[in-house]
Amino acid sequence: MGGFYIIIGPPGAGKGTQATILAEKCKIPHISSGNIFRENLQNRTELGKRAKEYMDKGELVPDDITIQMVINRLSQQDCENGALLDGFPRTPLQAEALSAFLAEKGKQIEAVLLIEVPAEELIDRLSGRWTCKAEGHVYHLKYNPPKKDGICDIDGSPLYQRDDDKRETVEQRIKVYKDQTAPLVEYYESKGLLKKVDGSKTIEEVTSALMNAIKC
Ligand code: ADP
Ligand code: AMP
Repeated sequence: MGGFYIIIGPPGAGKGTQATILAEKCKIPHISSGNIFRENLQNRTELGKRAKEYMDKGELVPDDITIQMVINRLSQQDCENGALLDGFPRTPLQAEALSAFLAEKGKQIEAVLLIEVPAEELIDRLSGRWTCKAEGHVYHLKYNPPKKDGICDIDGSPLYQRDDDKRETVEQRIKVYKDQTAPLVEYYESKGLLKKVDGSKTIEEVTSALMNAIKC
């Protein structure tokens, strides 16, 4: 059936984990702005070089760069019937750009899924996170270990720890979330689109709660 959905929440809430599962269940592409930036970093593109200086500090990449990149991705054929957005929008300007883009195509956001997790848990999750080089699939040493140490279950590529998952950067990213992204929660709530889910449960429990909240 498709449709456009947003997954929002602080760093480490489980957005990427859940988006990977839901995108497959709902048969829509998983669009992660963070993954697109990291692909550009790996491929040493001009965009990757510009984004790196912000990502390393735990800051947001400027809106103009980010909006253009995500809108380009959403303009591709596979997003015609919907997409699951993870990590975008993160600022009011990004939210407006997304609504304008969808409105122009006669589409709309079906729901915004907020994954809520207490701050102490976020640090623990991010310090044990291992990410796959090829497609950004994520694991956790304790909560979601890969079957083979250091190797992605899904595509067999090597796992690495993200530079921005070190403690000081994580604290900065959580602060940036509270200052710049959390206001979007109220914005989407006022539009009647927000669905809140308790993200401190197990991965399977969070998936069921999210699937109950949407009709993809
Ligand atoms: P985000 O995309 O919101 O930054 P991730 O999906 O990358 O978050 O998850 C952060 C870390 O927490 C990863 O190591 C992931 O394996 C782990 N994780 C995700 N969901 C849960 C959960 N419900 N319980 C425990 N750990 C989780
Ligand atoms: P994430 O993979 O979602 O944790 O994002 C990693 C980093 O990429 C963030 O800390 C930002 O520097 C950058 N980033 C990802 N998405 C966005 C966005 N929508 N707006 C601005 N910066 C972003």
